[in-house]
Amino acid sequence: MKIDLRASLRAHNTFGFDVSAQYLAYLQNKSDVVEFISKAQSEKEPWQVFGGGSNLVLAKDLSGYTALMQIKGKSLLKETSTHFYIEAMAGESWHEFVEWSLNNGYPGLENLALIPGTVGAAPIQNIGAYGLELEEVFESLEAFDRLTQEFVTLNKSDCKFSYRHSVFKDEPNRYVVVSVCFVLPKQWQAKLSYAELEKAFAHQHSLKPIDIFHRVCEIRRDKLPDPQVIGNAGSFFHNPVVTNELYQQLKQQFPQLVAYPSGQQWKLAAGWLIDQCGFKGYKVGRVGVYEKQALVLVNHGGGTGEELLQLAEQIKKKVKEIFKVSLTVEPVIFN
Ligand code: FAD
Ligand code: NAP
Repeated sequence: MKIDLRASLRAHNTFGFDVSAQYLAYLQNKSDVVEFISKAQSEKEPWQVFGGGSNLVLAKDLSGYTALMQIKGKSLLKETSTHFYIEAMAGESWHEFVEWSLNNGYPGLENLALIPGTVGAAPIQNIGAYGLELEEVFESLEAFDRLTQEFVTLNKSDCKFSYRHSVFKDEPNRYVVVSVCFVLPKQWQAKLSYAELEKAFAHQHSLKPIDIFHRVCEIRRDKLPDPQVIGNAGSFFHNPVVTNELYQQLKQQFPQLVAYPSGQQWKLAAGWLIDQCGFKGYKVGRVGVYEKQALVLVNHGGGTGEELLQLAEQIKKKVKEIFKVSLTVEPVIFN
């Protein structure tokens, strides 16, 4: 296993924050995972495993051991008369895996096209977009369990998925995911619950999964900043889920409020709340709020994680003051 000393993480986080790792390891097979964890533990050093760094705020240099998950491979595991079971190793690019699944005739992941990062990180926050969440197509995963020191298989209920949440967030650094298996029904059904997709395909007969894939990519390219150009980690806050009582109060006070039913509760569009507070396009020093989508905080170049976290605090405070709603940060913070 290759380990670099005092390595820059700038190219390994999509905000482009210029921090370093004391030791940076590259995990290319399952034995590397075991070696990495036993090395960090025997030296009593802190450790963490990253994928593509697209859901991180790195606000300081990291001490101890950091690893980049780079285990590759994807395949059809099995098929039944009704379902395909496909698997990808944790270091595969999520978007390339989605593209591969469609090109090989296993539809069902197309709504999750163009989400940055790796397959192994996808279950961590139960990634979701355009009306599909990972948990809906998830079968199981294999992970190294730090507590038992062995590889384990976790099924859907073990993972305790909820909205942008899972057991991996409750127990950080317990598991290192090495592969994920998805189950996709052979009888494909288009998911068009989001207005932009519904509008695009309202009159299209014989809709194919690849059409949705391309449309999702187009919409995302149009609305979201490309991390290669402007540093960002996608949505910076979760959409708050509030009681019906609070929703009714807010709706009366703010008739334009953007909200969607979520079980017995309501999910408020956090981007709308932030926009109403006047932050869209706001800049403070070298960081700011993206001009097309107030939910996305950006590094215009040369900014720091600390500056970004200060801006996030300012936004949270204002949203709380005006709407009485607490925003929670989505990316994982190292400060
Ligand atoms: P990282 O940022 O490297 O890591 C995130 C967390 O997962 C860290 O805690 C890390 O320790 C842990 N982790 C990573 N790999 C492993 C592993 N193998 N085992 C155990 N723990 C691991 N998210 C959505 O849900 N929906 C979206 O539509 C979406 N759009 C985005 C758009 C943009 C432009 C950007 C920049 C981000 C977007 N995101 C979205 C957020 C992000 O892409 C996802 O959360 C993604 O799954 C993170 O993957 P990563 O490999 O970059 O993880
Ligand atoms: P949008 O379409 O402008 O919608 C704003 C918010 O309203 C979204 O966050 C979405 O919640 C919710 N929403 C919209 N239509 C809905 C419907 N029919 N039913 C239930 N909820 C609905 O959002 P956007 O910013 O352009 O993002 C589009 C999609 O990509 C969303 O699903 C979003 O989650 C995803 N995305 C996620 C990230 C990230 O980093 N997490 C970054 C970019 C985009 P949901 O977020 O619950 O879907």
